[in-house]
Amino acid sequence: MRGTVLYGKEDVRFEDVPEPKIVQPTDAIIRISATCVCGSDLWSYRGINPLTGPTPMGHEYCGIVEEVGSAVTSVKKGQFVVGSFFASDNTCPHCCFGYQTSCQRKEFINRAQAPVLRVPLADGTLVPAPGTPPKEMIPHLLATSDVLGTGWFAADAAKVSPGMTVVVVGDGAVGLLAVLSAKQMGAERIIAMSRHETRQKLAREFGATDIVNERGDEGVARIQDMTKAIGADAVLECVGTQESMMQAIRSTRPGGHVSYVGVPHGVELDGEQLFFSNVHLHGGPAPVRRFLPQLINLVWTGKIHPGKVFDLTLPLEKVAEAYRAMHDRSAIKALLQP
Ligand SMILES: [Zn+2]
Repeated sequence: MRGTVLYGKEDVRFEDVPEPKIVQPTDAIIRISATCVCGSDLWSYRGINPLTGPTPMGHEYCGIVEEVGSAVTSVKKGQFVVGSFFASDNTCPHCCFGYQTSCQRKEFINRAQAPVLRVPLADGTLVPAPGTPPKEMIPHLLATSDVLGTGWFAADAAKVSPGMTVVVVGDGAVGLLAVLSAKQMGAERIIAMSRHETRQKLAREFGATDIVNERGDEGVARIQDMTKAIGADAVLECVGTQESMMQAIRSTRPGGHVSYVGVPHGVELDGEQLFFSNVHLHGGPAPVRRFLPQLINLVWTGKIHPGKVFDLTLPLEKVAEAYRAMHDRSAIKALLQP
């Protein structure tokens, strides 16, 4: 079969790769219904994360189980399943505390931009949908695999609850779905920081009540102004740069929560500034597996439509075009169909 391999800066290829096979008795093989390009894939694509060699790509996926290993009990052939970007056993202490991305047996999934995928620890990793979804529901289910799960974690980690004022820093797909998540958790005021018209529109559709164009010092000043110089109860940092992180911390009220779900690149925090800010900080690789049953149910019952972040759909063999479109920000997020 053919799959996606990144060779270096802006050099992604769809080429012959080995057909996945059951390796461990706890594995499953799934036929991908849809996959997509992640914002985090772009760090490597842009040459910011150095590669050690040709690297298979893709960690967001949903599809139909084709085969299971002899030890797999909860996932069956023919089921439509969604999994997260880290395989996890869902039984170790970290998993039981709800941090499956820190699973003692975790394995990163990185071959999902392909027609067929091997998923390790299938019983712990994969969550079956209640049935086979109609075609139009697939993008929404795919979104739960990472981008919605990560936005949801941003809201969960920042303890968003009814009545709160929430700021979302970042208008990528994760930021937009962090808005949706904050709305679901009952936030009263949701301020999305975005300077792109199409993204602002989607943020409003997902529940943003206010849009702020400014960034950095000006962005902080606007939030202070809008909150009567108190700061927001919760700020969801969905970018991962020094500027976005400081903007988040400085926009939060003392005692408020900052979550951060964008992989930090070059972020350094000043201890003294952090000390006097009096904020809670919580972030990391989103334990999407914790939220999957709930998120799949919200999609299945038509309560949320997170797949709206996919504004470009391409056949899988045009994966290079998908990377390019996200790289130059002409697409928010690209869905790939095998
Ligand atoms: Zn575990």
